[in-house]
Amino acid sequence: MTDKYGRKIDYMRVSITDRCDLRCRYCMPDGCEKVSMSKILTYEEIERICRVAADLGINRIKITGGEPFVRLGCTDLIRNIKATDGIEEVTVTTNGQTLDRYIDELKEIGVDGINISLDTLDPEMFAYITGGGELAKTLRSVELSAASGIKTKVNCLMQKGFNEDEINGLADMAFIHGVDVRFIEIMPVGAGYSSRGVSNEEILRMLCDKWPDLEPDSSVHGNGPAVYYRRAGVPGAIGFISALSGKFCSECNRVRLTSQGQLKPCLCYEAGTDLKPYLAGTDMELREAIRTAILEKPEEHCFDEKHFEDDGRTEHRLMSQIGG
Ligand code: SAM
Ligand code: SF4
Repeated sequence: MTDKYGRKIDYMRVSITDRCDLRCRYCMPDGCEKVSMSKILTYEEIERICRVAADLGINRIKITGGEPFVRLGCTDLIRNIKATDGIEEVTVTTNGQTLDRYIDELKEIGVDGINISLDTLDPEMFAYITGGGELAKTLRSVELSAASGIKTKVNCLMQKGFNEDEINGLADMAFIHGVDVRFIEIMPVGAGYSSRGVSNEEILRMLCDKWPDLEPDSSVHGNGPAVYYRRAGVPGAIGFISALSGKFCSECNRVRLTSQGQLKPCLCYEAGTDLKPYLAGTDMELREAIRTAILEKPEEHCFDEKHFEDDGRTEHRLMSQIGG
């Protein structure tokens, strides 16, 4: 369906848990408040919301968290959503710490894409940024995912003074493994408020110095706002998601479902529709609630406005509670 600004909304990020086995500095360095499982949507409820949303034309689903694989039975949910009428694509985003256990099953289910978050190739820095993660595990996940033939994307968040000297090394993974490596600007959400990111314009300049043959790549890589570059005759591509330096709200195609059942039309604002009460009603009532929430999608984010964090409307939850 289209929203009131004429944007086609066909993509939903579904956070299935707010828990995680890592503590990334820009996401939830101190963990997050433990929400009881009774407040978290059951898999049956998530499947129903996806089925009803598909009736409205939301045919692409991204499974996210927290870390999706910490929730028991995650692959059963993915299998069921993938088999839902009207759902054309199911992808997953993960920190890659345990993906080796699930990759064969994901391949068998026919998952359409795996995004793996990776911000550094230095084991100590990795442990520091992620609050205790093991680099080798995530690197192995990138290799396994690329080798599986599932479309693989590596998502990198660069922070001033931490990992900006690793931009070339991370980008090179695209050409080594034939995957997409994407630089995502840190958003002032959750612990990202106090992180200083590196702008994608700066990153592109550095990469063009290293690889002067980088050229814009207009082929379609996914559902999102990333802009891609590639080198002729070399596999893999470099993507940029520049929500801050290159506002793409006019092309936004997505909504977010939190693990507690809020349908959130824009990352920037706390507002959204609690779908839980509608789960007690009919599919038609649920569909209407989703449709109304989509119609209320704001025209644009206000991350770029001065002192936006004092604005009572803006998001104060952690990225792990929203799903990224
Ligand atoms: N745990 C999974 C992972 O790390 O991929 C899925 C959830 S995580 C919240 C989803 C994405 O959000 C990750 O790629 C992460 O790097 C990104 N993220 C977390 N905090 C962010 C922030 N403040 N700004 C931009 N991206 C952020
Ligand atoms: Fe966990 Fe992902 Fe947040 Fe890191 S970014 S703490 S891996 S949810």
